[in-house]
Amino acid sequence: MRSADVTIVGGGPAGAALAIALGRQGVRVELYEKAHYPRLKACGEGLLPHGVSALRDLVGLPNVPTVRGLRLCAGPESVDADFPTGHGLVVRRDRFDTWLFNLAAATPNVDARPGTRYTGARAEVLVGADGRGSMFHRCLPAVPATPRRVGLSTHAVGVEGVTDRVEVFFHGDGELYLAPTGGGEVLMSALFDYRHFRPDGMTRLLERIPALRARTRRLEFTTPLLASAPLGSFVPRVVDKTQRLLLVGDAAGAPDPIVGDGLALAFASTQDAALAIVSGDFGAYQRRRLARGAKARRLGRLMLALSRSERRGAWFLRHGAALVPRFLDVAVAPEPSRHEPS
Ligand SMILES: Cc1cc2nc3c(=O)[nH]c(=O)nc-3n(C[C@H](O)[C@H](O)[C@H](O)COP(=O)(O)OP(=O)(O)OC[C@H]3O[C@@H](n4cnc5c(N)ncnc54)[C@H](O)[C@@H]3O)c2cc1C
Repeated sequence: MRSADVTIVGGGPAGAALAIALGRQGVRVELYEKAHYPRLKACGEGLLPHGVSALRDLVGLPNVPTVRGLRLCAGPESVDADFPTGHGLVVRRDRFDTWLFNLAAATPNVDARPGTRYTGARAEVLVGADGRGSMFHRCLPAVPATPRRVGLSTHAVGVEGVTDRVEVFFHGDGELYLAPTGGGEVLMSALFDYRHFRPDGMTRLLERIPALRARTRRLEFTTPLLASAPLGSFVPRVVDKTQRLLLVGDAAGAPDPIVGDGLALAFASTQDAALAIVSGDFGAYQRRRLARGAKARRLGRLMLALSRSERRGAWFLRHGAALVPRFLDVAVAPEPSRHEPS
């Protein structure tokens, strides 16, 4: 048996999706994943429409709740905005990552190794899909985002008034997200500046935001509270041609989760990464991945500016409500086809 053509380190969404794309093209893949599935992961669990369409093209969609847009709330103001095209998904990460990893394991030519930490053996091409703290940042360094931020997430039942929109509450202490995960359960995620972070930050936000306090009186948490930090990174070089090394997913740069684009960015870039590996043209992948990452970072900066204080957020929602759909247009605009010049 000839050895693998590609070693992928990390079987999260980015690594599993790439393994599927490559395996189907006859490329032999070894897929290392140190965790045993299912496992929970700190995440807002929203997949934006452009990620949904990339995932649909790749493997089809899991049976999970759909969302048609966002509800942005700050102080007494709130604005509803639908996605201009398509819909988003709410993907509970323990189930979703297991589903995708199992699909990869069942793909021809993919040798999936769950519960196996990568220790250094490699094939012709090496792919770092090992997340934000990638071991490959030793040779392709990452620049941590500023301001330094912390994320929390958990699930709960008993929250009243949940709709088919992801709700985003801007507060001076941080942002809080609610999204339906199915069966009356919601995802709750909160993002904080380091300087404002406290371990009880999520419950403090629930108490401090009057609209939420009233809706969460019967709340019961159903999964442990998970934390992740520091959020966000920029990776100026995502390929090393001489070492035949390529980074995908968060390893290739993670937008601040305020944009909710990490998963979509990974799926939208999967075919580019597969094409680069098959054709040997790593440069085209790097250009397109950096352009996509830059767009997500620009949106992130804009949203972070709005979220800095509840008053500023409320002012924007009161006076700039008409801009919110435009903002969503840009955030979830379909990606150009990979045959178009980049
Ligand atoms: C608080 C928070 C909220 C977020 N909200 C959203 C959101 O709403 N929408 C969105 O799209 N994104 C969101 N994100 C970002 C999203 O979680 C990431 O973009 C996504 O997980 C990236 O997938 P990945 O496969 O690149 O990396 P990961 O999901 O991190 O997977 C990497 C995998 O590599 C494995 N691994 C690591 N090292 C090794 C090794 N040496 N050997 C073998 N395996 C290894 C790990 O076990 C892991 O399973 C959020 C993130 C945070 C922290």
